[in-house]
Amino acid sequence: MEKFKGKGVYGAVAIGSVSVFKRGDTQVRREHIDDIQAEFARLEAAKELAVEQLGEIYEKALKEVGETHAQIFEVHMMMLEDDDYNESIANLIETQAVNAEYAVASTADNFSAMFAAMDDAYMQARAADVKDISNRLIACLTDPGAAKSDDGGEKMIVCADDLAPSETVSLDKDRVLAFVTAFGSSNSHTAILARNMNIPAVISVGEEFLKSIKDGDKIIVDGHTGEIIVSPDAETEKKYAEKRAEDERKKALLQELKGKDNVTLDGTRVNIYANIGGVDGIGGVLANDAGGIGLFRSEFLYLESEDYPTEEQQFLAYRKVLESMAGKTVIIRTLDIGADKQIDYFDLDKEDNPALGFRAIRICLTRPEIFRTQLRALYRASAYGKLGIMFPMITSVSEVEQILAVCEEVKAELKGEGIPFDEKVETGIMIETPAAAVISDMLAPLVDFFSVGTNDLTQYTLAIDRQNAKLEPFCDTHHEAILRLIEMSAQNAHKHGAWIGICGELAADTTLTERFLRMGIDELSVSAPFVLPLREKVRSLDLK
Ligand code: PEP
Ligand code: MG
Repeated sequence: MEKFKGKGVYGAVAIGSVSVFKRGDTQVRREHIDDIQAEFARLEAAKELAVEQLGEIYEKALKEVGETHAQIFEVHMMMLEDDDYNESIANLIETQAVNAEYAVASTADNFSAMFAAMDDAYMQARAADVKDISNRLIACLTDPGAAKSDDGGEKMIVCADDLAPSETVSLDKDRVLAFVTAFGSSNSHTAILARNMNIPAVISVGEEFLKSIKDGDKIIVDGHTGEIIVSPDAETEKKYAEKRAEDERKKALLQELKGKDNVTLDGTRVNIYANIGGVDGIGGVLANDAGGIGLFRSEFLYLESEDYPTEEQQFLAYRKVLESMAGKTVIIRTLDIGADKQIDYFDLDKEDNPALGFRAIRICLTRPEIFRTQLRALYRASAYGKLGIMFPMITSVSEVEQILAVCEEVKAELKGEGIPFDEKVETGIMIETPAAAVISDMLAPLVDFFSVGTNDLTQYTLAIDRQNAKLEPFCDTHHEAILRLIEMSAQNAHKHGAWIGICGELAADTTLTERFLRMGIDELSVSAPFVLPLREKVRSLDLK
C-alpha cells in the first residue's frame, strides 16, 4: 500500500482500477513516402475525422459544461481549417516527401513555438491549442478506428500527467470513475471543467505517482482530502467504501433540500447564490435551487467575442439572465480583464507582473468608452429584474467615487433619452485587495454591498500567484490574515448599513461556513453544484 497526496478538485471518493491515459504524441517517426497524392488523401481523411470528433466533443461539452467552456472546441475546429497551418503541413509532405504524421508534428512544434514567443498572453495560450489539435490529427492518421472503439468494460480511474481541456471533456463520464493528474493547478482548465462535470478528481499529485502505477492497479481517490492510495489493504478499502457510501447517501439527501431555507438551527439566515460565466450557466443555477446569482463574470462575454461586444449585445445577454431569474437578485460584475484573462482586441501591453498590472477597473477607468457602454447595457437591462452591479479590483476611495460619478452620468443620459431603468439598482465593490479590506470603513458608506473575492484576496495577501502550480503547497487558503481581512470588512460593511457576501472559491468551503456566519456574512455565492451542500451545512449549524 502506497500513499500520495494532491489537491482535491471535486469532493467524492472513488475506488477502482487505473487506466493510464495514453496520448500518441511522442511516437511520431519521420518516414519517406513515395506517393505524395496518397499521403494528401490520408491527411484529408484524418482531418475530416478530427473535425467530426471535435464536433461530437463540442456537443458533449455543450450539454455537460455549457457554451462558455464548449467554445474552445469550436476554436479547435477553426484552427484545423487554418490556411497557414494546412499550407505548412502540405509543404512539408510535398517538398520533403515525409509522412503526414511527421509533417503535422513538425508544424505543431513550429507553430506552438511561434505562439509561445509572442508578447500577447492570449496568443501565448494558443500554443497549447495547436499541440492539442495536432495530437488529435496525428491520432486520426495513426489509428482512425481508435476513437470509436468501445469495449464496454468496467469504469476506470484515469491517471495522466495533465489533461488538456479537450481530453478532459472527451472522457466518457459513464466510463470514468475519477481522474488523477500529476500536475496542474486549481485554476487550470482541467480543474474548472472537473468541478462543472462533477467527476471526482485530484490534481497535482506529483510525478512519482505516475511511476508507481500501471494499468489495472487498484487505487482509492479521495477528492475531499486529495489522498490517493495505491493497492490498499482490505481494512483501508473498507474504510473508504464507507466514506463513499456516506457521500452517496448525502447526495440523495441533498435533493430533499431543494426549496428549503438557508437557515441555521438558531434562526440565522444567509443567502446562497451561484456564480456564472455566461447566459448558459442559468440552467445549473436553477437546477440547484440557488437563491440568486452572486457573481456573473461579465468578461466572458468579451472573451467569447471577436471584437468589443456592443451595448445591444450586452443588453440582450444581461436581460436574458435577469428575466430567467424572475425577480431574484442577479449581481453582474463589470469587466475584469487583464492578468490571466487576456483579449487580443484590447491590445494590452505585455507586462512583467500581469496580476499586479493593468486589469479590471483600472482598464475601465482609463478607457471610459468601454466602461460606459457596459454600464448603459447594465442599466437598460435593470428594467427586467433585480440587478446589482459590482466593480472588481478596488483599492481606493477615489476609484469608487469616479465609478459612481460615471454611473450617475449614464443614468442621467438614459433618463434624457427616455430609456427605462431601475432606480434601485444596488452598487457594490469586490473586496479582493488587502487595501480594500483595510479601508473598508471608508468604502462602505459609498456602496450598497461588498463581495469578497477570496481568489484574488488570497493571491494578494499571501503574495501567491494564483496561476502558479508550484505554489500550491504554500497556498494556505485558511490563513488567518485572509480571515481577519474578511471579518474586518464585514464589521465595517454593517457599521455603515451595507451587506457583505463572499463570491470567491472559499465561499464553498464548508469548514469555514460557521466562521463566516459568525462574522455576519450575509451571502455566499458558489459554483452551482455547491449550493445544496452549503445549504445543508448552514442548516446543521447552531450559532448560539
Ligand atoms: C475572486 O478573485 O475571488 C473572484 C471571485 O474573482 P475572479 O476569480 O474572477 O478573479
Ligand atoms: Mg478576482
